[in-house]
Amino acid sequence: MTSFVLRGVRALDAGGGFSGPLDVSVRDGIIDRVGNLATGGDATELDAAGLWLMPGIFDCHLHLGCFTDDTLAMAEMDVTRWTLEVARNARLVLELGITSLRDVATATPGIRDAIAAGAVPGPQIQVSGLLTGQTGGHGDGFIASTATEAATGFLVPDYPGRPPSVVDSPDEMRHAVRAQLRSGVDWIKLATTGGLLSNGLDHPRRAELTAEEVAVAVFEGARAGVPVAVHAYGGEGLDIAIAAGVRSIEHGVFLTEEQAAEMARRGCWLVPTLAVFQELDALAHSGLIPESAAVRVAEIMPMAGQAVAIAREAGVRIALGTDLVRQGANLSELALMRRAGLTPEESLLAATAGGAELCGVTDRGRIAPGQVFDALLLDNDPGDLEVFTSPATVTAVFQGGHPVRPHARFGSR
Ligand SMILES: [Zn+2]
Repeated sequence: MTSFVLRGVRALDAGGGFSGPLDVSVRDGIIDRVGNLATGGDATELDAAGLWLMPGIFDCHLHLGCFTDDTLAMAEMDVTRWTLEVARNARLVLELGITSLRDVATATPGIRDAIAAGAVPGPQIQVSGLLTGQTGGHGDGFIASTATEAATGFLVPDYPGRPPSVVDSPDEMRHAVRAQLRSGVDWIKLATTGGLLSNGLDHPRRAELTAEEVAVAVFEGARAGVPVAVHAYGGEGLDIAIAAGVRSIEHGVFLTEEQAAEMARRGCWLVPTLAVFQELDALAHSGLIPESAAVRVAEIMPMAGQAVAIAREAGVRIALGTDLVRQGANLSELALMRRAGLTPEESLLAATAGGAELCGVTDRGRIAPGQVFDALLLDNDPGDLEVFTSPATVTAVFQGGHPVRPHARFGSR
């Protein structure tokens, strides 16, 4: 039953505020009318008075293949177990209210397609290839004890046809990107600086890959109509990524005003991933990540979030992304972006229509006629967005008009 009329709901509008009370008519999973609609048709009527309605969340930086902070357990896991854990995560985040996501390096095109075909529940998914970087860089999962070349720092197990992702020349980059494109990816994901959880030399302030290598990835992606997303904290690595014409910068913790101005000029998006910094800070304090990573986390925490205000001031577009190791607190990103300097309206749009625009999705992200009814209901006023720090805030989740999590008031609907 995916046709009904929601009566008397307050709905997120194009300005990021809530309009209403108004009625939303859904026919075969698509919104067909929004406004004060006449009663008396044959559609099922659902009394949504006192409820808030918003589009499903776009999480534009998620790793479905991440589900534990025990890296040894991940490294020992075979691909069959891993794939079903990914499926578990896909269902989990959908039920949280994430109806669309961009997996920037773990889930494969096959996983995306199986979920789209209904094999298991999950959001609409876009996938990048593996995190591609240099030897000894953020994406290099080399295991020193056994001298094993492992594909990625995100510990994606080996599987037939897995493309290469550790490159050390423009030609190797060209081959890796072409192999990833051949596998059917929607994005290419690069690391042009180090990160927090990786080993050895890798550090957020260290530039990785050369300008030539990054330019080759952007060129090959563009030929196939596939954009590039780049993990970059700041400095030279961030400069290289912006200059190459990538579509989004992930993290961007050390973003400067000059870099933000250049991003705005070039239409490059920022996905600030504030949720993972909170999570890693908590894990570091509990001793659950290696000491070397804990030191890096402590170093960046005072700066985490400052990029949001700098980007906003420069006019850089911002989309919501979480990057969590364990899924669950994803929607807290709305409150974290608010605390970092976005208005509530800007944060709500970054989480919905903004994510859709970054991902080139035109039929989701808004409550408007013609849009797929991927949507959330909330019992309490989202107000200053702090309510999103509790997953219980979302009281119903719809996907294509189908109630993934029905509202208590509507029974099985
Ligand atoms: Zn990430």
